[in-house]
Amino acid sequence: MPIFVFQLAQLGIVAADLTAALMFLYGLHRMASPVTAASGIFVAGVGMAVAIAASFLHVFGVSAAAQPYLVTNIALALLALCIGGGIAWWSGRTVAMTAMPQMVALYNGMGGGAAAAIAAAELLADKGHGLTTLIVTLLGALIGAVSLSGSLIAWAKLDGVINQPLRLKGQQAFNALVLVLTLAIGVYIAIARADTAPLLLATPVAVYLFFGCALALGILMTLPIGGADMPVVISIFNAFTGLAVGLEGFVLQSPALMVAGMVVGAAGLLLTLLMGRAMNRSVANVVFSNFGNVSKHKAGKIQGELKPIQAGDAGIAMRYATSVVIVPGYGLAVAQGQGKLFEFVKLLQAAGVSVRFAVHPVAGRMPGQMDVLLAEAGVPYDMIFQLEDINGDFKTTNVALVIGANDVVNPAARTDKASPIFGMPILNVDQAKQVFVIKRGEGKGYAGIANTLFYGNNCNMVYGDAQTMLVQMIEAVRGLGLSAAA
Ligand code: NDP
Repeated sequence: MPIFVFQLAQLGIVAADLTAALMFLYGLHRMASPVTAASGIFVAGVGMAVAIAASFLHVFGVSAAAQPYLVTNIALALLALCIGGGIAWWSGRTVAMTAMPQMVALYNGMGGGAAAAIAAAELLADKGHGLTTLIVTLLGALIGAVSLSGSLIAWAKLDGVINQPLRLKGQQAFNALVLVLTLAIGVYIAIARADTAPLLLATPVAVYLFFGCALALGILMTLPIGGADMPVVISIFNAFTGLAVGLEGFVLQSPALMVAGMVVGAAGLLLTLLMGRAMNRSVANVVFSNFGNVSKHKAGKIQGELKPIQAGDAGIAMRYATSVVIVPGYGLAVAQGQGKLFEFVKLLQAAGVSVRFAVHPVAGRMPGQMDVLLAEAGVPYDMIFQLEDINGDFKTTNVALVIGANDVVNPAARTDKASPIFGMPILNVDQAKQVFVIKRGEGKGYAGIANTLFYGNNCNMVYGDAQTMLVQMIEAVRGLGLSAAA
């Protein structure tokens, strides 16, 4: 092949990689606001398509030894693209909002697995890499493999395939032992590949052992952690995957992989820290499995009583209020009541009521889940307020309507030092003049503790599925002879 064709192809790869990297960064920047997030995702997706298309330019640089496999390899790559793209398209279109954490866990695991697979190919091919590149490859392999197996366990827990945390005696010491063993095998591979040590073990066998131990480590780290804690764990593995991809990007000298990996790694780390802060938990607390261990908390007897009210009566009370702040929670996503909620809100607005939404950073089971839920129903962004922007307003609010939220409005977080959620910032719903809480019964929230808000003098319980209760509220307000503005 003429040398200029090869050089042109190389130039094309570098140009496409840099374009893709810039598109990832620009896409991420647009994802910072719900108004531009969808276009940000599109831009980043196009960047990914550019990077994938450019990778086919490598056909102009294959070695003579690989030439006979060229057509087969291209066909396999295209087949993999069709299968992977098809499954991703289908699952992205059909996934339920409440199943998003599982899907994120699966795709995140695949990213880690892809990075580990690149590392495995590099280590098994013995391309004569220098020591630095070998160490980077091994680090990426370890982190990627841990992320793959750990994310699969996280998926199984979120999906209910594994229902119980599995804790062994001396689990943390055992995990540390497996980590040390994996690192020792990694050091052996690096030394053996650099041809400075007598070979006790064939290097491919050591590579397989290394990956076996790394995969086992991911499983051992994740098994003891409770299912409901998995979103935070996924966020940590997300950071791991990004780091692994970035490291393997360095090995392959691919700017697109390096930038994409580091961006994902940094974003995952920040998200983990923010989730930890919003839940008043340290990252170490999550990693060492004490997280979610709430059973030891013994709640004292709560003063007051639960006061049920009919959904229609609550709806009419809100129709005659001047200001209503709505707090959505996990139960709204379960009930898929967002459409009916916005219908109800439009009725209130038509009656002159000021309505706003207050979103807690960890409401639901995934960061941003409530924002996405409300956006799906068409709620305008300027009606949605984050905790720090609205918390001071509850004192002057007529009615706070809590829908399927529990922990994020539990005043115990402010007052009960023994509570597992003590110190977690909450929405100060209890300070509103009147509170209505929609939930199905006496079910606890994710933290598994009683909520003193429900027993307050200013609080009434609307018992039932969120969507059904909202339909009853709509009917009651419509019965007064008003219609929606929109
Ligand atoms: P909670 O899990 O605390 O409470 C949800 C409530 O919804 C339950 O009390 C349940 O009560 C009610 N509910 C369930 N289904 C329905 C339904 N169909 N209709 C009406 N109500 C329903 O949710 P929050 O959003 O308040 O809090 C989120 C919790 O998850 C926090 O503790 C947070 O720390 C944790 N978390 C959040 C993550 C995130 O990233 N967002 C990640 C990891 C954990 P009942 O059964 O009686 O109906």
